[in-house]
Formats: sequence, structure tokens, C-alpha cells
Amino acid sequence: MKAMLLREVVSLKQNEAPLSFTNTSEPQTSEGEVLLHVTRCGVCHTELDEIEGRTPPPQLPVILGHQVVGTLESDSLLSNTQDLAPALQKGQRVGVAWIASACGHCEYCLSGQENLCPEFKATGRDINGGYAEYMKVRADFVYPIPDSISDSEAAPLLCAGAVGYRALKLCNLKDGHSLGLMGFGGSNHIVLKTAKYKYPDSEIFVFSRNPQEREFALSLGAAWAGAIDEVPPQGLGAIIDTTPVWGPISAALKLLKPGGRLVINAIRKEEVDKDVLLKLDYPSQLWMEKEIKSVANVTRADVREFLQLAAEANIKPDYQEFELENANKALLEMKQGKIRGAKVLTI
Ligand SMILES: [Zn+2]
Ligand SMILES: [Zn+2]
Repeated sequence: MKAMLLREVVSLKQNEAPLSFTNTSEPQTSEGEVLLHVTRCGVCHTELDEIEGRTPPPQLPVILGHQVVGTLESDSLLSNTQDLAPALQKGQRVGVAWIASACGHCEYCLSGQENLCPEFKATGRDINGGYAEYMKVRADFVYPIPDSISDSEAAPLLCAGAVGYRALKLCNLKDGHSLGLMGFGGSNHIVLKTAKYKYPDSEIFVFSRNPQEREFALSLGAAWAGAIDEVPPQGLGAIIDTTPVWGPISAALKLLKPGGRLVINAIRKEEVDKDVLLKLDYPSQLWMEKEIKSVANVTRADVREFLQLAAEANIKPDYQEFELENANKALLEMKQGKIRGAKVLTI
């Protein structure tokens, strides 16, 4: 099968084409797993963190990609998994998200927080992902895709959308409270669409270094859009930061209203400007019960809930398609901040 393989952890500055296009053997499923014929795979900023070693894959080579859409190929093993996934049928359209598995019996798994499980395994990092024609996956970690959502639309919903949805839930926003979005790429543009549906009376303020992204935000209904260091006309009840650096955290803390919460939706931050943290000013950036919370991974419930919400509210991502062979180009554009909506590989 065709696949894009990551063979070594490397900075994109040193190697602008870290993935190699290869013909490799199809995965062999074991009990409890299903084989997926992949049609689309979303490109996520986390792939850059894997390639550059901020969250390195435990084994190389590996196939990246954790926003996978495809059809179920195997039916021979379905009889083994019917307790876990009774609705799955051969030919059915399903998605795979970042969560590839969790232990199922720790305190976190038993309390609806399988995203925090110490044995959490990630798709496209700890197991091979969707930058390939086929992938195997545990049958109880796939999600039927609602009919009204196309394959290309569904792919970005599986991480950018679902983790963004988790971030939005963690904001504890009430309708009418103002929301800030720092960074406006694959995830936050879907968060904006979701927030407008869930919190119709809330105004949304978007911060981006890129003027095209600011224009894009206004076209989607943001009340205001400015550069990362610009000050909006009012304080903000909650802010979601999706940027890879630290400056926006410092900026966001200043903009939060008393009791406000900053939610950091980034698996890792780059080290470049970390020294801004030493200059944090306690009275203006931390006092008055301001909170900082990170978003870690995603649960299956988040993905299911979000797919349902997306179908109900007709939330569709804006996306650009790239052929599988051009995955390096998509990743490089993401690194360079050339982003409008989400990027999706067609396979
Ligand atoms: Zn992702
Ligand atoms: Zn667990």
C-alpha cells in the first residue's frame, strides 16, 4: 500500500520533506481490530511536534495522522468485537481520532477521563495512523460518520474539531460571556463556528499574526480580530490558545477578566520565547483568580458528541486538499503559518 513514512525525528528547518513516500505492506489485524480503507486524513499541528521531537513517536518508522476517515474493509473479525462495537459493518464510513486506546480500568478511565489515562496511546504516534491507504485500529475506537458530513469535511472534525470542542467545554463559558481565540488555524476556526451555535449571545475575539486569518475570522462572524499583541475593546471571560509559542499566553492573561480562564490547546509549546514567563506580572496577569488549564488529548465521548453536534448544527470546516504524496508540502505550509482552515490529505 501507499504510505508516507516518518523515518527520523528532525527539524523542518533541516529537512523540509521529512516524510518519504513508500510502498509498504498492508497492516494485519488481530482480534478486536478492524482494517480501514483510508480515504482522507487531516493534517494536524501535532504532526509537527512529532516530527520535530517535542512528542516523539516511541518507534520509527511510523505512519503519522490521527484525523482518519475511511470505510471498514474487514468483516471477518467483526464477530469478535460485536460487544464493543455492535453497529459496525463492512463498508461503513468511520473515523479515527487521536485516542487509539486507553487501559479501561484506571481511575481516569473509570471516571470518564480516559484522555488522562497513563496508558493512553495516540493514533499516528504510538500506532500507525492515516497517512496511508490502509490502517488498523481497535474496533471500539472508531466513530460512525454522520451521512450529512463528507469525508473531507469529517477529517478535520476528528481532532481540530473534537479537541477544540473539549477546549471550549473546559472554558466553562456561559452564553453571553466573551470568548477569545488566540491563533486561528484548523482548530480555532471550527471552535468559532461551534461557539456561535452553542453560545449565540457571546462575542468572539480572534487574535492572529496573519492578516488573512484575521479577515477569515471576521468573515466567519468574529466580533473583532487583531494581532496577538493588540488589545480588544473589552476584557474576556475565557480564551483558548492554540499557538505553538509563549507570548500569546502572557498576552492572554492580561486580557482575562477577573475569574477568567485561559485554556491552552497545544500538546507542546516550542522553547523559542519561553523567557516571557519570567516577566509575568502577578497583579495584572495572575491575581483576581485567573486560571490556566491545558487540554490533554480527547475522549471517545468528546469525539462522538462533537460529530453529533457538527451534524445537528451543520458545522463544517473550511479545508484545503493535498494528495497524500504532498503531505510534506501541507506540513511545511502549516509550519510557515500558511493556514486557511484545515488541511486534508486525499488518499
Ligand atoms: Zn491533532
Ligand atoms: Zn486508563
